[in-house]
Amino acid sequence: MRVALFALGGTISVTGGTPRLTGEQIAAGVPGLDGLGVRIDVRDVAALPSSGLTFTRVLEVVDAASRAVADGAAGAVVTQGTDTLEETAFLAGLVWPHDEPLVFTGAMRNPTLAGADGPANVLAAVRVAVATPARGLGVLVVFNDQVHAARRVRKTHSTSTAAFVSPDSGPLGHVVEDRVRILAVPPRPGPLPHRPSPERLAATRVAVYTAVLDDDGTLVDDLARDRQGLVVAGFGVGHVAGALAPRLGAVAGRMPVVLASRTGAGPVLRATYRSPGSETDLLGRGLLDAGMLDPWKARVLLRLLLAGGAGRDEIASVFAEWG
Ligand code: ASP
Repeated sequence: MRVALFALGGTISVTGGTPRLTGEQIAAGVPGLDGLGVRIDVRDVAALPSSGLTFTRVLEVVDAASRAVADGAAGAVVTQGTDTLEETAFLAGLVWPHDEPLVFTGAMRNPTLAGADGPANVLAAVRVAVATPARGLGVLVVFNDQVHAARRVRKTHSTSTAAFVSPDSGPLGHVVEDRVRILAVPPRPGPLPHRPSPERLAATRVAVYTAVLDDDGTLVDDLARDRQGLVVAGFGVGHVAGALAPRLGAVAGRMPVVLASRTGAGPVLRATYRSPGSETDLLGRGLLDAGMLDPWKARVLLRLLLAGGAGRDEIASVFAEWG
C-alpha cells in the first residue's frame, strides 16, 4: 500500500523559527510509521508558513494527489501550517473527485518542543488515508486523533493541540490505537467542475466585510472597489446595522455578495427577523445565503466560482448545496 505525502511547511516543519524540515524528515520523526506497512512517497512542495499559500498552489497539490491516486496510491496526506488549513482543505474538498481520502494535517507545537503533536498527527493522517471506512468521505482534516470533514472544520484556538473543531457537526470519527472509527457519514456534494487558471484566480478578488459595532459603513464601498465579489461576515444570524443595508444592496447589484455569520457556528437565517439590516432585509436586497459556511470558507467558494466563470444563479445553487 502507498500514500503520497505532500509537505508544504508550517509549524510541523519548524526548527529555529522557520519551516525547515523536509517531508522525509517529518516522516522519519514519526514513531510507528514504518510498522504500518505503508510506503510513503514524499513530495516537498513548499517550505512556507501557511499564510504564504495560494489557491493555485493548493490546486496544484490537488492535481498531484489526483495523479498519485490514479497511479495506485491508497490516499494522500498534506502537511502544512495550521493557520490557513481550514481554507486550503475546504478548497481542495470542493474539487476532489476521488474516493481515496485526501487528508490534511499539521502541528500546533513544533518538533523542538516538549509534546510536539506533529508525529501523532501524521501517523493518524496516514492511518486515515489508507482506511477503508474513510473512503468516499472526500477531503478530511485529521488532528488530535479526530477526523473532520474539510467542509465543517475550523481552527478555533491559537495554541491548543485541540485547535481543530467542527462546531456544527462534531468530528466524523476518531483514530483509536490502530483503528479508524468513522461514526458519521455526511452527504458529500459532487465536485465542482471549475478549475480556473492562475491568471483567472489572480484577477478574481473577493473581500470579506465584517460587521462591527457602531460602524458608519464607509468601508463597504472601499472594500467592494476593484473586487468581483464580497462576503459579509454578519452579526449573529446574518445581520448588519440598518444603515449598511442599502450600501450592501447597491453592491449586490454589481457583484455577488454572500451573507455569512461571524459567530463561528450555526447558519444565517432566511426569514425570521425583518428590521433594516436583518437577514430578510439583506436577502431581499439581493445578498446570497452562505448557509452554514463561515465567512472564510464562503470566500473560498465564491472566489473559486467567480474565477471559474459562474454566474449568479449557479453561485446561489452551489452555495445552497455546499452551505
Ligand atoms: N503560522 C504557522 C503556519 O500556519 C502555524 C502552524 O503551522 O501551526 O504556517
